[in-house]
Amino acid sequence: QPAVAATNLTKTYGTGPTAVPALTDVSVTFGAGEFTAIMGPSGSGKSTLLHCLAGLDTVTHGSVRIAGVELTALSDRALTRLRRDRIGFVFQSFNLLPTLTAEQNILLPLELAGRRAGPTAGPDADWLRHLIRVTGLTGRLRHRPAELSGGQQQRVACARALVSRPAVVFADEPTGNLDSRSGAEVLGLLSASVRELGQTIVMVTHDPVAAGYADRVVLLADGRLVDEIARPTPDTVL
Ligand code: ADP
Ligand code: ADP
Repeated sequence: QPAVAATNLTKTYGTGPTAVPALTDVSVTFGAGEFTAIMGPSGSGKSTLLHCLAGLDTVTHGSVRIAGVELTALSDRALTRLRRDRIGFVFQSFNLLPTLTAEQNILLPLELAGRRAGPTAGPDADWLRHLIRVTGLTGRLRHRPAELSGGQQQRVACARALVSRPAVVFADEPTGNLDSRSGAEVLGLLSASVRELGQTIVMVTHDPVAAGYADRVVLLADGRLVDEIARPTPDTVL
């Protein structure tokens, strides 16, 4: 069973004469441990697809399953719980809480889930230490987002998305606001965590270099899935 599956997914924004068809009849699956990049021109539906797959946006027609669970059939409360337990999300604009320190931002999903954890105690302590080390944030934990560089902020956001060891991580242009070196660090982090934890990563990007980190590329145009490329390289996706 795929980690994530969309079947005949259609999404229309608005109704009547002003309705915008953002996705039309998209069927695609994402295997456990697979790192997929979603590419396509601006306005082709990449963000909409990611948001529908992650249960952050409602679907007009069709089905979205995460580990076999049909998202469109869940109550808001059940969907929130499923997102919390199984999904991590990395946004282009980081979406960190400005009043919290880096460490507090990273721990937020665990706090929301009501679990206790900290660098010195709790069942997740080793994992947390590991995450902080591989993200290179050791000396930055007490800083607030405004005191961190863009690359550091995105590494905090990645650590937050990974802290609860979700089965699926969605990333929407995670390197879109970063210079190429910080971008490479974030992509290295994401791809290492797929290999290490067997996570499924679905990343929207328009950067061929970023797509080169993925196992395959799914190409959208005008809201339809038009091509898939296995083992992409920056040359084959340009
Ligand atoms: P991409 O991520 O590939 O740039 P989007 O998924 O953002 O594409 O957008 C797909 C289409 O849906 C575009 O025509 C866009 O204008 C439209 N769209 C996206 N979000 C909304 C919204 N909230 N309301 C109305 N139309 C939207
Ligand atoms: P609710 O909208 O029911 O309060 P959440 O508290 O789960 O649900 O989500 C609030 C916002 O946090 C969402 O609109 C989304 O932008 C973001 N979000 C949702 N799920 C995640 C996640 N797994 N990781 C990071 N951010 C998320």
